[in-house]
Amino acid sequence: MKVIETKNLGKVYGKSENKVVALDNINMNVEKGEFVAIIGASGSGKSTLLHQIGGVDKPTSGQVIIDDTDIYKLNESKLAIFRRRKIGFIFQSFNLIPVLSVEENIKMPALLDHRTVDEEYFNDLVKTLGLKERLNHLPSELSGGQQQRVAIARALINKPSIVLADEPTGNLDSENSKEIIEMIKYSVKKYNQTAIVITHDLNIAENADRIIKIKDGRIVE
Ligand code: ADP
Ligand code: ADP
Repeated sequence: MKVIETKNLGKVYGKSENKVVALDNINMNVEKGEFVAIIGASGSGKSTLLHQIGGVDKPTSGQVIIDDTDIYKLNESKLAIFRRRKIGFIFQSFNLIPVLSVEENIKMPALLDHRTVDEEYFNDLVKTLGLKERLNHLPSELSGGQQQRVAIARALINKPSIVLADEPTGNLDSENSKEIIEMIKYSVKKYNQTAIVITHDLNIAENADRIIKIKDGRIVE
């Protein structure tokens, strides 16, 4: 079953002589349960593509269809709700809220939606991610790897059907990177989610179900 589809997706930044064509006619499909890696040189358009798919930034042309919803046809507030319910976005910089505890950071997306947190799921997540002993700590008291795990738990707390990760291991050593990817993979398989992960790490890409290579804003492989 198809969960993500892009149709003639294009993104142009800037105007006239400063114009950058970041995405040029991207057509791709992702099936439910797939773990897809996106690779490509720096500046090839990977982050831009993930942002368009994640409803973070409007494309210049084309469509993004998620679970039969043409997401950029939604108004801004509906899109924000759609995003929080359906999509877990893991950023390269963890974007944690420094004055909130680990537990509060993780539960934030559920609280924003006035959802009751599924405590059993929360406990499962923090146990799997090795954060159980750190719930009352502030992000600044954690190692880089632990902060990334908090960001992952936060991305997963609403049980999103789609997990999007932009270089989730970009700031981590290879040991931590491997673990983080294993955890995202575990979550995807266990909860029947779908994931797209940008990575420059070929070891990680080789563990994906499929690799999409981007060059100059186009899919080349
Ligand atoms: P990647 O993630 O593969 O490194 P990006 O998607 O970040 O690539 O960038 C693709 C192209 O778009 C690059 O040429 C980059 O300079 C340009 N770009 C990205 N974001 C912006 C922006 N906000 N304004 C202008 N140009 C941008
Ligand atoms: P890593 O090897 O992953 O980089 P660190 O050496 O940064 O880990 O941290 C080792 C342990 O010390 C971790 O469990 C982390 O939670 C804890 N720790 C690191 N910095 C602080 C801090 N400022 N306050 C409290 N605990 C910390």
